[in-house]
Amino acid sequence: MQLKIYNSLTAEKEIFKPILEGNVGMYVCGPTVYSNVHLGNVRTFLSFDFIYRTLMHLGYKVRYVRNITDAGHLTDDGNVENDRFVKQTRLEKLEPMEIVQKYTVDFHKVLDMFNLLPPNIEPTATGHIVEQIELTQKLIERGFAYESNGSVYFDVLEYNRRGLNYGELSKRNIEELFANTRDLDGQGEKKNPQDFALWKKASPAHIMRWNSPWGEGFPGWHLECTAMSTKYLGETFDIHGGGMDLKFPHHECEIAQGKACNDAAPVNYWMHANMLTMNSQRMSKSTGNYILPMQLVTGENDFFEKPFHPSIVRFCFLQAHYRSVLDISNDAMIASEKGFIRLMEALKVLNSITPDDTKQSGFSFQDWKSKAYDALTDDFNSPVLIAHLFEAVKYIFALKDEKETISSADLEDFKSTLNAFVFDVLGLQAVEENNYEKLDQTLKVLIELRNQARRSKNFELSDQIRDKLLAEGIELKDGRDGTTYVLN
Ligand code: AMP
Ligand code: ZN
Repeated sequence: MQLKIYNSLTAEKEIFKPILEGNVGMYVCGPTVYSNVHLGNVRTFLSFDFIYRTLMHLGYKVRYVRNITDAGHLTDDGNVENDRFVKQTRLEKLEPMEIVQKYTVDFHKVLDMFNLLPPNIEPTATGHIVEQIELTQKLIERGFAYESNGSVYFDVLEYNRRGLNYGELSKRNIEELFANTRDLDGQGEKKNPQDFALWKKASPAHIMRWNSPWGEGFPGWHLECTAMSTKYLGETFDIHGGGMDLKFPHHECEIAQGKACNDAAPVNYWMHANMLTMNSQRMSKSTGNYILPMQLVTGENDFFEKPFHPSIVRFCFLQAHYRSVLDISNDAMIASEKGFIRLMEALKVLNSITPDDTKQSGFSFQDWKSKAYDALTDDFNSPVLIAHLFEAVKYIFALKDEKETISSADLEDFKSTLNAFVFDVLGLQAVEENNYEKLDQTLKVLIELRNQARRSKNFELSDQIRDKLLAEGIELKDGRDGTTYVLN
């Protein structure tokens, strides 16, 4: 079985050859912990969790590193005064490290809720200031970086003058880039507008600051990932992942830093996960088109008609390939819930099937198994794998109705393969007795009874229904389009 991975750098599906046979080094850019993660962020981390789980299932020993960005990630406009941590510190009247702790805890809670496995190493930018200063010094010594007014910048033109190719990942032409960029960040400090900061001088307002050979300052965002990935995985490692939007400039800069420091490309396979949209618009905090993961699970939101169990959200996400855009909607979630319930029912039914070694089955289990593995190894094709799972579901119900048979050897193999796909690889969790759907139906009945009580002016009864549900942690909300509920 050969694993094929789509490499964003070559724009081709390639046969995966790890540096060290049987081992994989994988680095994924982590969150910037200055606010709560939204559901879009979760999709990217979930995509890589599925990739991590698949690699392990295929027998690789994986070292998975995912960082926490807790310093130095400036806003897109590049203005130091708009540093995300500094702004949030002012807004919440907290110490920067209180902000970091608060949102790191939230991040872990959210990923835990969706059953993501923790990475093997989760390094922080602030824990690797020394390494970042060392890298900056090395880049200056090698002639790829220069100091200017207490800040240090990477010299993109010099990089290209030496035959290296800035723009190779995002397929951008350097001349075009120069023509289209205004210098918002460097305020005249940079030689060229495309030069990016390795170290920034701290203004008096900047609270997070460290001593360096260039005075007090803080590291540039791109440098932390080079420092941490190479420290834990080596100067060249197997897989680097992140959301599509990080391709440029973040990952482009990482390639440049790695090549300039070590004369070698830092990464063999670049992998980029596509975006989550809601109502066909990219999910993002800045536009307000976002939902927090917990709001989808409790039902406290204006987008979805009911709450959904985290495993159903996970299932919905995996029904799209990691390189495709996924649009989340009420209908998509309802459809995922139905599919999920049927899949879980089939797994239960399978446990009660009696094998029959005297008859030949019309369903070739071994054929099915090899097709399922083909999907998994074809650039981690979760939607095709799930389509195969539903063929298996059909077969299981045919077995139950005695329209099909299975041999005892195949039955054991079938059970263990299916369980491995569903629980280990897709990372789904059984939802006990489908409580979510039953609860939803029950609550709809109660809401209708309450409406009837109100219509007949029996407010004592209608208030009683509302208050008793509230005491059980279920809040009824009356809106223009009727009554909905929120699970607290
Ligand atoms: P940030 O904390 O902003 O650095 O983002 C963390 C991760 O979430 C990055 O890998 C982003 O690419 C990813 N991300 C941001 N918005 C979305 C979205 N709408 N859909 C999927 N991934 C996203
Ligand atoms: Zn990164």
